[in-house]
Amino acid sequence: MKKPANAKFLETRGLKKYFDAGKRWIFSPNIKKVHAVDGVSLTLRRSEVLALVGESGCGKTTLGLMLMGLEEPTDGTIFFEGRDITHLADHERKDLRRKIQMVFQDPYESLNPTQTVKEIISEPLHVHNIGESQQERDERVIKALEDAGLKPADTYLTRFPHELSGGQRQRVVIAAALVLEPEIIVADEPVSMLDVSIRAEVINLLAELRISRQIAVIFITHDLGSVGFFADRVAVMYLGRIVEIGTMLDVLERPQHPYTKALLSVIPVPNPRLRHERIILKGETPNPVEIPPGCRFHPRCPVAFDACRLSDPPMTTVSKTHQAACLLMPK
Ligand code: SF4
Repeated sequence: MKKPANAKFLETRGLKKYFDAGKRWIFSPNIKKVHAVDGVSLTLRRSEVLALVGESGCGKTTLGLMLMGLEEPTDGTIFFEGRDITHLADHERKDLRRKIQMVFQDPYESLNPTQTVKEIISEPLHVHNIGESQQERDERVIKALEDAGLKPADTYLTRFPHELSGGQRQRVVIAAALVLEPEIIVADEPVSMLDVSIRAEVINLLAELRISRQIAVIFITHDLGSVGFFADRVAVMYLGRIVEIGTMLDVLERPQHPYTKALLSVIPVPNPRLRHERIILKGETPNPVEIPPGCRFHPRCPVAFDACRLSDPPMTTVSKTHQAACLLMPK
């Protein structure tokens, strides 16, 4: 049955994840914190592709792990289909894992080298006790392989991971997620370990799945250039916060935040006539233990002004320009 495309079914409100920045000692109970995710509010609709973009260390993977229940939030709330799923008991979490699956960056690490493709993809069915009979489970495995683009499926069943190419391995990882018929896939840098020639194939596969299986995808990437293929909306993260969110076209063609503009400016453009000035940000991403005061981007912002060191502007949306947001800051 077709599900309503616009239904908001995953939502985070003020989500935070802080890690201890060292060992806690009896004489130093007030240990510093790594602010990995620092107040993220976003929504995801059914069958939507939301790209989460930012430099490494910005908190996007930690955010994905919290959505999966693999990291416990420090604060904030996660709702799935209107239900608070922030802190669930293990048995409730197990049910939810069927609906929210994760595809990790490294297909070499994700697959057990001693298992055949059939064993790898059947395993989630056994863990979740799915399938009345072996035949039903086998049919699910075949369908998942074919939907992941590995056809004819029976030629892959007895192979081991080392007998597959990098792209085929990532398709097996995706098939192992599909076999549970999830409603959301959190894909964490799913193509960054693959050859450039097969990256587009895997992205196209995810794009097809969101239509054929009505799966929503959270596509985590450091490469803003790769999201134009299929993202509906783009959220740009910097130092644990979303600094800009909007439709793919708005963010890519009319970016508002100086950080988004800088990320876009360094995407390689093959046509020399279309090349434009690159914005090279000063310095490294600040240490997430020592978040700069005011706007956390101010030490690297090419257009920072005095008030930026004192106050943080409201998050930019495409309907409110960043400059207007900055002007609202108390001087
Ligand atoms: Fe740059 Fe200031 Fe805007 Fe921050 S608030 S992004 S420092 S202009």
